[in-house]
Amino acid sequence: MPRTLITGGAGFLGSHLCELLLSKGHEVICMDNLSTGTIGNIEHIHDERFTFIKQDVTEYLYIKGPIDYILHFASPASPVDYIRMPIQTLKVGSLGTHKALGLAKEKQAVFLLASTSEVYGDPLVHPQKEDYWGNVNPIGPRGVYDEAKRFAEALTMAYHRYHGISTRIVRIFNTYGPRMRLHDGRVVPQFVYQALHGKPLTVYGDGKQTRSFCYVSDLIEGVFKLMVSSESEPVNIGNPREITILEFAEAIQKAFGTSCEVRFEPLPVDDPKTRQPDITKAQTLLGWKPKVSLEEGLAKTIEWFKTYRAE
Ligand code: UDP
Repeated sequence: MPRTLITGGAGFLGSHLCELLLSKGHEVICMDNLSTGTIGNIEHIHDERFTFIKQDVTEYLYIKGPIDYILHFASPASPVDYIRMPIQTLKVGSLGTHKALGLAKEKQAVFLLASTSEVYGDPLVHPQKEDYWGNVNPIGPRGVYDEAKRFAEALTMAYHRYHGISTRIVRIFNTYGPRMRLHDGRVVPQFVYQALHGKPLTVYGDGKQTRSFCYVSDLIEGVFKLMVSSESEPVNIGNPREITILEFAEAIQKAFGTSCEVRFEPLPVDDPKTRQPDITKAQTLLGWKPKVSLEEGLAKTIEWFKTYRAE
């Protein structure tokens, strides 16, 4: 039975990964300091192959026994969170990645880094392919996340090249679904919350900036396929269907069958104007592409928010 450590395992993506790996026959150790993750995301998992350790991944990691895979998903990931916790974000991407890689070296485990489309910054190339180096403002408010993840990628490649560790890097584009925090500030939970409570949808800027939204089950499947591949260079995982934020506001209204007021608010500093993954590499290398449409994924997400987080 493979034994896998998931850092950030009580978070949005981490908790879905815990479930997927248990279903694939793994023993799962979930580590989280619960700064943005919650026990509520994992408390339904009753399985003797599952263990939770409350720990900050930036501190020395000691795990008894062998480990086959380390999936490093610990980090604040919403602009609101990483602007609220700038130092922690820089530390988990740098020191936390160093600790997790050190453990991978010790255990000769496969290491997978959860990286991000934010490494492309406000991209000047469209759609974004893995060989694009990005356009990041290192000293802007988003720089704490973008640069931490860029450093994490560099460190991962250094451990791969210098120490011969088997590594993977997934660049995750906007993902949504059940277990996002209602108030994490990202556009999907924000608009769902506003529509549920009859509040205006807050569109930042003119709403013409674009994003491409991937449903969580598609994303997790892509991560798993990359994990069991032997690709050490970064791979984009995301849904290439690109829409403007105004179009997204329309999709929300359609899903709710209501028309909501739209209120325009200032665009946050360094908010990327466009974002769309080129997933040719994932398609050819991993045989992966997303299956869940925005309409289908939104319906499932709204249902979940109504049941669990409508407060
Ligand atoms: N956004 C918005 N209204 C909101 C929250 C976000 O218009 O209430 C916009 C935000 O400015 C960005 C896009 O939606 O252009 C996606 O934002 P999110 O925070 O979800 O993630 P990002 O892709 O910026 O990391």
